[in-house]
Amino acid sequence: MAPAGSGKIRLEVITPERVVLGEDTESIIVPGARGYMGVLPGHAPMVVNLKIGVVKFKQGGSYRRLSVSGGFFEVAEDKAVILAETAERGEEIDVNRAKAALERARKRLAARRDATVDAARAEASLQRAVTRLRAAGAAPEKVFGQAERERPEQE
Ligand code: ATP
Repeated sequence: MAPAGSGKIRLEVITPERVVLGEDTESIIVPGARGYMGVLPGHAPMVVNLKIGVVKFKQGGSYRRLSVSGGFFEVAEDKAVILAETAERGEEIDVNRAKAALERARKRLAARRDATVDAARAEASLQRAVTRLRAAGAAPEKVFGQAERERPEQE
């Protein structure tokens, strides 16, 4: 926990696989199920559901990013904990892997009338890939544009 009155809030990010992050921060912005929300040191205790999205946290005045695939965000006494199925720090994201996952998801969604395609699953996969690209600082708009041009006429 960051010491009370230190002007910091500790952020811990934990998945079933590993501890992704444990650092003191100046502020945190999370993708709440009802929209993005910001938390500063001294915030009242709370628990919210997260959707797939980018978490931003401030250190030394500048923001760092993480991707999370939903989960929970709990704040208590200048400590915030994210429990998520998967989470990655921006700098550890494999951009090519996320681009490939995005392409696969796009192709599945384009073929969604095929009874074997689980559209909800493909949509979630697409969201995770776009979020990873955003957290890594790779502009998904450009990836989308490129994907559009490379997409075959019929799938
Ligand atoms: P893929 O199809 O590339 O596996 P996915 O969305 O199905 O993507 P997940 O099931 O969400 O992958 O994650 C599986 C594991 O791989 C998790 O530990 C997650 O943190 C990690 N992971 C997934 N994509 C990336 C990536 N682009 N860079 C780094 N780690 C990743």
